[in-house]
Amino acid sequence: MGSSTLINADRLWTRLMALAEIGATPAGGVNRQALSDGEIAAWRRVIGWACEAGLTPSTDAAGNLFLALAGRDRAAPPLLLGSHLDSQPTGGKFDGAAGVMAALEAAVSLAEQGDRPARDVIIVAWMNEEGSRFAPGMMGSEAFTGERDMDAIRAARDADGISVGEALASLHQAFPDLPHRPLGFAAGAYLELHIEQGPLLEAAACTIGVVTGIQGKKTFQVVVEGAEGHAGTLAQQERRDALAAFARMATALHAEIGTVDADIKFTIGRVTVTPNAPSVVPSRVSFSIDLRHPDNAVLNAAGVRIAALCHENAAPCTVTVTPLVDAPSNAFDARLRASIAEAAREQGHPAMAILSAAGHDARHLAKVCPAAMIFIPCRDGASHVEHEWAEPNHVAAGASVLAQVLRELAFAPCIAA
Ligand SMILES: [Zn+2]
Repeated sequence: MGSSTLINADRLWTRLMALAEIGATPAGGVNRQALSDGEIAAWRRVIGWACEAGLTPSTDAAGNLFLALAGRDRAAPPLLLGSHLDSQPTGGKFDGAAGVMAALEAAVSLAEQGDRPARDVIIVAWMNEEGSRFAPGMMGSEAFTGERDMDAIRAARDADGISVGEALASLHQAFPDLPHRPLGFAAGAYLELHIEQGPLLEAAACTIGVVTGIQGKKTFQVVVEGAEGHAGTLAQQERRDALAAFARMATALHAEIGTVDADIKFTIGRVTVTPNAPSVVPSRVSFSIDLRHPDNAVLNAAGVRIAALCHENAAPCTVTVTPLVDAPSNAFDARLRASIAEAAREQGHPAMAILSAAGHDARHLAKVCPAAMIFIPCRDGASHVEHEWAEPNHVAAGASVLAQVLRELAFAPCIAA
């Protein structure tokens, strides 16, 4: 199958650049926050392109955007493909947007060929993947898959005090004619194209990354409680110095957890000292831990040791270790991965298997249907920065591979999980 017949690469690139004008920053990046006026403007543009090609837009209670190409059997579980349209405050043109636009291009090209797929093909833009305006991210995909309750999602507030519930109302008011789907529906499969956000594809001169899975992640909030005292008068042996206890914990954690093996990623990224005054013995230290590993057994064991090491090094202070995120590693569907690798081979794009070090909405979809991801290279592995860049021919290659896998699934009489 010639890749040139599967998508219109020029149209895809032109539209991706046009989308990047919405929320464009002076330094060439994009600032398009979830549920903002910028995202509403992006929805209008994307809906316009989809409607031109005969796709039908709709939304749901979580503010996800769906663009459906009708298949012959409207009752068969549809194919879902997409990514997100929100960005980091100093984000780039490709993170998320490339996946939505590649998926739209694949579906629009399919519609133009006039062959009606066996089942519906639905392009999706998930609400608030980035989590920069409303934390934590991936709200749309977690609501869709039933992992997070809508009441909890609606209650989250941005820095100005605006809740997700209020912002969702503004979004839906901006599109009064858009039909609402029930939250969550059975999908036949999910596909997501994304820039790698790392340097491995570029280093290996590969155009296509066949993503094996997403590495697991745990986060913790740790609070060390001691007692405040005068730096000049309180005897050293009588002190309950929370910062000194933190220093022992950090040293022990880096020495043991940070050296578990070559794949471990251990980070203490934020430390808050109270009262944080030069002549006062610190009474309280609160710090964050971010732990990642592709092997769930290693991740879980390290998680248990983190709590133990904090407690072993706390005296004479006390410590509380609160787990926040607990997202195990997942493996993407073997059959879909094989289809992606085969499509890349047929189209002549060098490909390699790759583990995703960053989280994506596909992690959640993989729990409810066969799911897979396609990575394309980004220059110097840079992402979440304004100079984020993907080459036009790499975007075209990824979209073309996505389009081929989509066609195989769209015309299959059934999708074996
Ligand atoms: Zn992304």
